[in-house]
Amino acid sequence: METIEQVDTLVIGTGFSGLGMAIALLKDGRRDFLVLERADGVGGTWRDNTYPGCACDIRAHLYSFSFEQNPEWSRLYPTQPEIRAYLDKVANDYGVRPYIRFGRTVTAMAYDPAAKRWTVTCADGSAVNARVVVSGMGGLSNPTIPKIEGAETFQGAAFHSAQWRHDVDLTGKRVAVIGTGASAIQFVPQIAPKVGQLHLYQRTPPWIAPKLDRPMKDWERKLFAAFKPAQTWFRRTIYARNEIGAIGFVQQPERMAKMQQMLVQYIHAAVKDPALREKVTPNYVMGCKRILISNDYYPAIQRPNVELVTDGVARLTADGVVSADGTERKVDVVIYGTGFTAMDPMARVDVTGVDGAKLSERWKHGPEAYLGLTVAGFPNLFLLMGPNTGLGHNSMVYMIESQIAYVMDALRLMNRKRVPALEVKAAVQDAFNAELQAKVAKTVWNTGGCKSWYLNEEGRNATLWPGFTFDYRRRTKKVDPAAYRLAE
Ligand code: NAP
Repeated sequence: METIEQVDTLVIGTGFSGLGMAIALLKDGRRDFLVLERADGVGGTWRDNTYPGCACDIRAHLYSFSFEQNPEWSRLYPTQPEIRAYLDKVANDYGVRPYIRFGRTVTAMAYDPAAKRWTVTCADGSAVNARVVVSGMGGLSNPTIPKIEGAETFQGAAFHSAQWRHDVDLTGKRVAVIGTGASAIQFVPQIAPKVGQLHLYQRTPPWIAPKLDRPMKDWERKLFAAFKPAQTWFRRTIYARNEIGAIGFVQQPERMAKMQQMLVQYIHAAVKDPALREKVTPNYVMGCKRILISNDYYPAIQRPNVELVTDGVARLTADGVVSADGTERKVDVVIYGTGFTAMDPMARVDVTGVDGAKLSERWKHGPEAYLGLTVAGFPNLFLLMGPNTGLGHNSMVYMIESQIAYVMDALRLMNRKRVPALEVKAAVQDAFNAELQAKVAKTVWNTGGCKSWYLNEEGRNATLWPGFTFDYRRRTKKVDPAAYRLAE
């Protein structure tokens, strides 16, 4: 039998979360850790999503590590290759790579209460035994392809936007795109000029705002490189402007309904045909689903070779897509822009805690944790980007850095008090979630009249943080020992 590697801390994933965690451990002088990564490179979502036009919709000067600001960003909203290169460079510069084991997909983890350690098993049969596990598996890392009747009979190429088939030449082809979310609105304008015909299947129109993007000026880059405080100031102004958004999303959703008039005007200015205008105008309050930003989406869908289909996809045939009204459109390629399994941060891992408790069973009504980070019954397990810590208005990297600081504080607390394990008290977790759910119930995500992946089938919002991100940072600054049971 293969020997089981023993480490103090095991980190899963090498996206912003996993890399940031590994760097924090190194900075704290810790070397007894490993990072497991299922793929063969670092970068998480920024490694996987290579579709044309893939970019971040938060400005990069903010959407990057606070301790590794990059003066070289080419524009306000750089595209995926630049963000991936940034993460690759960070992994190299901070010496993280020797700690990473690539090609290791975690499938199960079980806690041994006697040893107070986790055994983490991978798909290849290998295992790691660790005192502490930090999951950085990401909120949006597992693509969803909806079950569509006849999909297996389709003879052409069919792929998800997060698994883009660069070997499939779309030039002159008849292409169906299913979905009009954040990914689709980025790749549709890129492929539309190239394909012969594009049928875009929209189930729900998104609210779209203009993208205020521009290349960075030479003098700005030089200034940021030579004088770091200038970039820090730039970063803070982006943060502050985004953060104001929380007021509308969380505290005064009625403001969103008023502000959306600006986006109605944008549709009027950008879309000429009244029938098309009606099709792309959402019937729910702005912000209920993620507000998207684009300058080229509305022009793209008005191209003569693009058709917006709103009848819904009924089934696929060997060479076409049949919509709900029975019309079959012949296509060579189907591209799914249908999003990710977002509701469960540990969806693909069988997690067993104390007394054989299964995390999936605990979470059958939706995931929940204390501060999105720790779960009663699962000691020494920390979730980065865990339940209710996603955002609709600001940079996830800010949240991730708050969480990493919390994990580091927990590790130091365990050292200081000489305790092998920490477990959040169930009553503390329950009280936290009762307060959180009361708050989230009033937000635009829950009241805006849309169906989104923010809410599960029971209408429970287990994805988003209903508040200011600085408040989350304040609450995660220090571990409150009274919230935890400290193992002897
Ligand atoms: P998404 O926002 O969840 O969009 C999925 C799209 O597919 C929606 O239009 C959805 O329609 C449609 N869809 C799903 N199942 C369908 C079905 N069975 N039939 C027809 N249509 C179906 O997914 P995404 O665009 O991949 O983006 C996911 C998230 O990733 C975003 O919300 C964002 O947080 C992140 N993202 C960020 C960026 C960025 O710039 N930072 C870029 C891309 C993605 P409904 O609306 O009706 O459900």
